[in-house]
Amino acid sequence: MKALIPRRVQIETVFGCPESCVMCAVHAPTGRTPGIMDIDTFNRIIANMKPWRDSIEMLDLVGLGEPLVDPTLTDKIIHAKREGFRNLAFTTNGVLLNDRRRNDILETGIETVIFSIYGSNQEIHDSVMITGHFDEIEHNIREMITLRDSRRHSTRFILIFIRQEANIDDWDNCVSRWWKHLNPTRRDMMIRYDRHSWGGVHKDFIDPWESACPSPCPVLSKRMTVLVDGTVPMCCMDAHRCRHRMGDIVRDDIATIYNNERFKDIRKRHEHGLMSSVPLCGTCTIHLSETSRITVS
Ligand code: SF4
Repeated sequence: MKALIPRRVQIETVFGCPESCVMCAVHAPTGRTPGIMDIDTFNRIIANMKPWRDSIEMLDLVGLGEPLVDPTLTDKIIHAKREGFRNLAFTTNGVLLNDRRRNDILETGIETVIFSIYGSNQEIHDSVMITGHFDEIEHNIREMITLRDSRRHSTRFILIFIRQEANIDDWDNCVSRWWKHLNPTRRDMMIRYDRHSWGGVHKDFIDPWESACPSPCPVLSKRMTVLVDGTVPMCCMDAHRCRHRMGDIVRDDIATIYNNERFKDIRKRHEHGLMSSVPLCGTCTIHLSETSRITVS
């Protein structure tokens, strides 16, 4: 039987973030150690995925952390592209996106850079990103757009707005503030979706969700997450505590891990309507978040 290969792989190049946002799980208690993926580990992971690169449609260099903390981020992008991976992307809060980083990132030819935006004014922004930086973030993103447009780089930009209590009515204001700077002919877009519980980490945000969730969960057969040390957890929602250790992609190739008995057992339980027997899945609200998605393009 043909091996199942995820269409989208997410590599956590950094675990940790200097900022603090209320909906994020990065600072919630966990046994994991913050750190930056070293370049040798990254290159081994790329080598272990390379034979299946044509099946991998998107490579996200982000996990539970801020990718710009990593001084080797552009080296990693360049290496992955050189090895034939396509549709590279990463998500950033934009705080560390200084003049040199803007230029270096665009020079890599990365296909997509995703910016998180939190509010249309400082007050709303600071009630989500409690460490502030409203003016810096806006300046850095706008400078990056201007640089991209002036040099005709191919990178597209996506602005993500995670709707939550603090910014519940601010989406239209954000669209008015930002959309005029973006360029739909470059496939730029803005996306809004609702916050989720990070697999139950945010206990104040666990809703009854079974009726909203497709069964089996599509994340289990379409996406793979890789943590900063090469560990493969069950899914992106398992990044915070890694309760399900599915494999080590520094040691094994992607097909072996994604088709091992642990993955098969969890998929089978989902197929038989027993997903709440899988720790995490019973408290996951990712599908409520996905179904709330609105796009401007
Ligand atoms: S925790 Fe379970 S339901 Fe949620 S995304 Fe992961 S596999 Fe899917």
